[in-house]
Amino acid sequence: MSNRPRSSGRHFLQIPGPTPIPDRILRAIDMPVIDHRGPEFQKLGRRVLEKVKNIFKTKNNVFIFPASGTGGWESALVNCLSPGDKVLMFETGQFATLWKRMATRLGLQPEFIESDWRIGADPAQIEARLKQDTAHEIKAVCVVHNETASGTAAPLAEIRNVIDKLGHPALFFVDAVSSLASIDLRHDEWGIDVTISGSQKGLMLPPGLAFNAVSQKALEAAKTSRFAKSYWAWDDMLANNANGFFPYTPATNLLYGLDVALDMLEEEGYDNVFARHIRHGEATRRAVVAWGLEVLCRDPKYYSPVVTTVLLPPGHDADAFRALVLETFNMALGAGLGKVAGKVLRIGHVGDTNDLTLMGALSGVEMGLELAGIPHRKGGASAAMEYLAEQARKPAQKLAAAE
Ligand SMILES: *Cc1c(COP(=O)(O)O)cnc(C)c1O
Repeated sequence: MSNRPRSSGRHFLQIPGPTPIPDRILRAIDMPVIDHRGPEFQKLGRRVLEKVKNIFKTKNNVFIFPASGTGGWESALVNCLSPGDKVLMFETGQFATLWKRMATRLGLQPEFIESDWRIGADPAQIEARLKQDTAHEIKAVCVVHNETASGTAAPLAEIRNVIDKLGHPALFFVDAVSSLASIDLRHDEWGIDVTISGSQKGLMLPPGLAFNAVSQKALEAAKTSRFAKSYWAWDDMLANNANGFFPYTPATNLLYGLDVALDMLEEEGYDNVFARHIRHGEATRRAVVAWGLEVLCRDPKYYSPVVTTVLLPPGHDADAFRALVLETFNMALGAGLGKVAGKVLRIGHVGDTNDLTLMGALSGVEMGLELAGIPHRKGGASAAMEYLAEQARKPAQKLAAAE
């Protein structure tokens, strides 16, 4: 029996991951399990291992683990580094904080560039710290591409340029768990050594897959790493993946889903997918500003196209607000995490979404503000609607001009 009374229509899953799963992907997953050492699996394995490289914009290997994104963090660290190594991390929010805690637990020495969670990883601050490191003690620079807790995004190409300008040999690790397939990411062009991701956000899949896209430099570093590892060991993955197989039982049905998700992203066109996320981020921020509320990200340079984190006026509990919206409108909004718990709510606009889904979500938030008695101005949803309509007119104008 369901643990929820029947409610009509679709549940609005407006958290920044897991995201709604398209029916086509659900159907692809709904298949009998096959022998993961047999010839039919081998075809699937070879196909997805090759095809998945496109979304990372890499020609190198992408390892796929049956794990959550957190496993992808661990795999990157234990394969390329050694106990006691210094790593430079930037405090963008709760996910950066958890990654740092993991580094500490593993016996690394993370150095945290502290921040107020209201900007993404700042290239200038990273440059200043790397410049001091003339002895090259920092072995890796770890950056969260889209900080899902604070709704900020980092300029990865700029950070790469900073590392290159200084000629610093550190590896460059990027957490792309909530940015892959939502924000442009160029693993090879931006010289990323390990790109870490997961299945349940931009890729529109259920949770359960972790990814490590690697570079030649990362594979070289793995040869001299002194961390103990077994499940995460890349050499076992490399040997098995060469034939389309895995060292242990893979998440077979999620790979069926991945196969179709990658097709869907290519059919829509990556650039269209990225533009859609940027548009929805802008529409959401316009709504927030019209309500007279504050977006947590304080510098437009770092605005996230994936999630908007909204500060509620002091004295208003964001978790009580989210509970009211869930109860009344069957919509899940993202909770504030870590040091902003209870103070913010997060509106996810990531994955399989469209203008009208977003309008439904923003209408639900606006009605919720009214019901909860949170001081605000009306007209946020209208402001978003106006912007989306204006954007929708653009391609039509281009078509008319071309005729
Ligand atoms: C979701 C997320 C993670 C953690 O992924 P899990 O699958 O929950 O382990 C890590 N980093 C970022 C930026 C995320 O959004």
